[in-house]
Amino acid sequence: MSLTPRAAGRHITFEAFGQPAVELDVDFVVVGSGAGGAAAAVILARAGHSVAIVEAGPWRAPVDYPHSTYGTMRDLFDAWGGLVTQSRALWPVVQASCVGGTTVINSAIVVRTPGDCFERWEREYGITARGLDKRVWDHQDRLEHELSAEIVPPDARGHSNTLAMDGAEALGWDSHYMVRYARACEGTGQCLQGCRKGRKQSTNVNYVPEVLERGGYVISCAPVDRVAFADGRAAGVAGNFRDPVTRRSGSRFRVRATKGVLLAASVTQTPLLLARSGIKSKALGTLFRAHPGTGIFGVYDHPVDQNVGATQGWASTAFRVDPGLKLETLAIPPEMVAGRLPGGGAELVRRFREYRNIAMWVAAVRAESAGTIKPGFFGNPVVRYQLDEPDMHRFRSGLAMVARMHFAAGAKEIIPCIHGLPYKLGPDEVDQIEEGPLDPRNYIAILSHLFGGCPMSADPRQGVVDGNGKVHGVEALYVVDASAIPTTIGVNPQHTIMALASVWAENLVS
Ligand SMILES: Cc1cc2nc3c(=O)[nH]c(=O)nc-3n(C[C@H](O)[C@H](O)[C@H](O)COP(=O)(O)OP(=O)(O)OC[C@H]3O[C@@H](n4cnc5c(N)ncnc54)[C@H](O)[C@@H]3O)c2cc1C
Ligand code: SF4
Repeated sequence: MSLTPRAAGRHITFEAFGQPAVELDVDFVVVGSGAGGAAAAVILARAGHSVAIVEAGPWRAPVDYPHSTYGTMRDLFDAWGGLVTQSRALWPVVQASCVGGTTVINSAIVVRTPGDCFERWEREYGITARGLDKRVWDHQDRLEHELSAEIVPPDARGHSNTLAMDGAEALGWDSHYMVRYARACEGTGQCLQGCRKGRKQSTNVNYVPEVLERGGYVISCAPVDRVAFADGRAAGVAGNFRDPVTRRSGSRFRVRATKGVLLAASVTQTPLLLARSGIKSKALGTLFRAHPGTGIFGVYDHPVDQNVGATQGWASTAFRVDPGLKLETLAIPPEMVAGRLPGGGAELVRRFREYRNIAMWVAAVRAESAGTIKPGFFGNPVVRYQLDEPDMHRFRSGLAMVARMHFAAGAKEIIPCIHGLPYKLGPDEVDQIEEGPLDPRNYIAILSHLFGGCPMSADPRQGVVDGNGKVHGVEALYVVDASAIPTTIGVNPQHTIMALASVWAENLVS
């Protein structure tokens, strides 16, 4: 996109302790530069307003992205990926902390918001904003165009994705090669580590630079501590810079915003930021939800080389409503494969010899279970969440479906990675998964699609924000990230988060 900058913008980053405070005056300040924050900021900037994006993490160029999982945890993940659910099972809750947020480490899968989500939000949360569905879909048209949403090109599919298509076809299941925000994906299988090829359209390579080009500011390495208020309305944000390597505190920054403060610090951070800022709401930290997912390895008698090809390239949404699942391929780095294989020492090395012949496919549950996200003793997020029994049944049946698909695609065995089951199962043993444990501790699952914590509802007793993302009872304060979404949606959420944030930002400038 060609731009005529209104004025040169400025990227301000870490300032050491003892340096003068950074002070800025703008129309709008946006906290967080991921899916929601960047989408909202660019709408405000295009409307001619001065905008500052304040981001807790550093700005890393694609050429500096790490190669390894360790490097990703160190440089891109929030808190080294150390956040886990504190309930029966300790399942990781994964998010990024860098300019671009979780869009830097995600697979950029694009799925439009299903119509039944809007109906449910209206029915259960009183969200009656007229034409919200059409406005979201219109923005999704625009986003798909601007962020080059493309079907994974044939050259970049790799064997894992084409095998999954074969398996689904053999079973007669409706499925597709994915549409992703990736321009001419080269199939390097490195989406989790950040796309060094610059193909994936994470927000650090498009909307955040556009805000700068339009004369805005980006303040990185700058975790916002609090929202500031004046005359009963939100008036800005403040905090101390954080060194991206040592994590030591730096000098102070303050951004004053005359027209509005938009929070998009993610499901795990926005509720905490509101709590630190003195927002009192019974709904704060409630309705934490997710699409927990886990995978099964298929073992083939020929090399699959799952890391050659798009990280994720095939999916089925045919089971979204019944039983409430999404099936996908997912190539994870070799060290993560090793981490999922049971055993150690020589046994693990022997098992790992099959690495080239295995493919991982996953099931993610459109779970109904709800938990909480609250500040812990040191102010860090504490997630209390576990799947209830109906969700565990869905979870288990999803894995059995993945296992059946592997066999339909020609796998000779599967590695279920389920505690209590044999290391490998054959084609006649899938019933062991169907009747497998219902205790979440037996599964190695992960939460990457998160919702809630600042849920929207027309009723202030049920929700933190209203149908425009505005915090109930507070002027000029908005939440424009996944934390405002009160339900799971059963499809990958980035497209919905970006479009909702766009609608809400547009309301502020029209
Ligand atoms: C591994 C993985 C793969 C995924 N794949 C897909 C996919 O393919 N398709 C899809 O639709 N979804 C995917 N998702 C989910 C999707 O990326 C997220 O739902 C989405 O990015 C959430 O958007 P957000 O704006 O709520 O938060 P984020 O994108 O996480 O952005 C929040 C930002 O706020 C910053 N922040 C936090 N606290 C503060 C603070 N106090 N001050 C300043 N800044 C702060 C963070 O550092 C972060 O940059 C994936 C997620 C993961 C983890
Ligand atoms: S598979 Fe590789 S080239 Fe394609 S978007 Fe992901 S990291 Fe980029």
